[in-house]
Amino acid sequence: MARVFEAADASNLVTELRRSFDSGVTRGYEWRVNQLKKLLIICDNHEPEIVAALHDDLGKPELESSVYEVALLRNSIKLALKQLKDWMAPDKAKTSLTTFPSSAEIISEPLGVVLVISAWNYPFLLSIDPVIGAISAGNAVVLKPSELSPASSSLLLKLIEQYLDPSAVRVVEGSVAETTLLLDQKWDKIFYTGSSKIARIIMTAAAKHLTPVVLELGGKSPVVIDSDTNLKVTIKRIIQGKWGCNNGQACVSPDYILTTKEFAPKVIDELKQELVAFYGKNPMESKDLSHIVNTNHFDRLSKMLEEKEVSEKIIHGGEKDREKLKIAPTILLDVPLDSLIMNEEIFGPLLPIFTLNNLEESFDVIRSRPKPLAAYLFTQNQKLKERFAMTVSAGGIVVNDIAVHLAVHSLPFGGVGESGMGSYHGKFSFDAFSHKKAVLYKSFFGDSAIRYAPYSRGKLRL
Ligand code: NAD
Repeated sequence: MARVFEAADASNLVTELRRSFDSGVTRGYEWRVNQLKKLLIICDNHEPEIVAALHDDLGKPELESSVYEVALLRNSIKLALKQLKDWMAPDKAKTSLTTFPSSAEIISEPLGVVLVISAWNYPFLLSIDPVIGAISAGNAVVLKPSELSPASSSLLLKLIEQYLDPSAVRVVEGSVAETTLLLDQKWDKIFYTGSSKIARIIMTAAAKHLTPVVLELGGKSPVVIDSDTNLKVTIKRIIQGKWGCNNGQACVSPDYILTTKEFAPKVIDELKQELVAFYGKNPMESKDLSHIVNTNHFDRLSKMLEEKEVSEKIIHGGEKDREKLKIAPTILLDVPLDSLIMNEEIFGPLLPIFTLNNLEESFDVIRSRPKPLAAYLFTQNQKLKERFAMTVSAGGIVVNDIAVHLAVHSLPFGGVGESGMGSYHGKFSFDAFSHKKAVLYKSFFGDSAIRYAPYSRGKLRL
């Protein structure tokens, strides 16, 4: 049996890592590159084990694991390896007449010892991606994967112990008890991925030590479908982005559709047809759909479906099997706005469609709710695209596709309001784990008497 992780272990761990950080080992370019290369070896040499762990935890289809976890990580690591020298280089800054003669620069300084707490739905991507940022920026890092994906968590521990520098990169497995002990420590940054409910606990713990946080949370990401769209492609992309990404258990998953009453029948027909084309007549048997992570989440989703006035609104799917943790892709039409399913993040294979008198109303619906992690629009109307991008507040916006923005490393990925704070990916990950230190180099030349006491009007006139 594994030894229990105690308060002293948490404190010793941070002391040990701080010692390494203070020694300067993590600051060097060579160390950073070396650790990133080890992460790349993990992706290159251990993909079959990673795919198997994801299958154990979530029944995740092999292709989904290879593309959305391993390939995305590989891209992230390669980008960091390619760009690291540039990212680390100080940025020259302009100086003003007030400080003349002087020069200035901004140095990206590592923060110190950082904690990454990750979620179960993309356990490799969401664990290693922030670690790439932490290492690139020259920090020592502790990763706490989610206990709800145990096969992935123990593989992460094994691989990181096997390949990375144990004096500065560590994994602690565990759930609430272990995380609470970690949160009692003083960190230089906490990077948390998970629900907004637990984010409040994280932020409260961080506040005690004045530790900055990045909170990568979720929310109800809406999809607005205009009648002026390529419906076939629209529906395929929605299906791929909803059920083709961990069966709806993704932070950027489409949570609900908004379209007009007039256009809804076409949307529904196309959805039904394409769902059969994607997953067959019996989707409960499909190998291309992940299962629900555990019985707690299965029961949470069942509760949403079984609520009075909701179950009668199912227009497609609705089958479920608690033993196998399977729920079929399910579409609902016009459920009450005050129902559970329209108020809590679904995070599963259910997709309500909410119909409006005109598309204009979609702006009000989105504005009246907490700011989502993503908002999607399908249209060919240029004016509508621009208005949506300019006026809808969300972590990110994608026009005419789902979730693909997270693969674009030049875009920051993160939430706003209830969907989180801070962002990462590409250079944004490096920045998330760096302090932008202002440095001004002043000359002794040109010393003026005006600034020194005794002050006098006369000096100003000099
Ligand atoms: P969660 O908040 O339950 O758990 C996330 C992490 O917090 C886990 O490591 C867990 O061990 C830890 N944790 C749980 N309870 C805790 C407590 N009381 N004290 C301290 N730590 C605790 O979230 P989840 O169920 O793993 O993930 C689902 C949520 O995460 C959804 O809201 C989803 O949208 C969001 N999410 C966001 C992103 C993103 O990148 N923005 C990615 C994936 C998931």
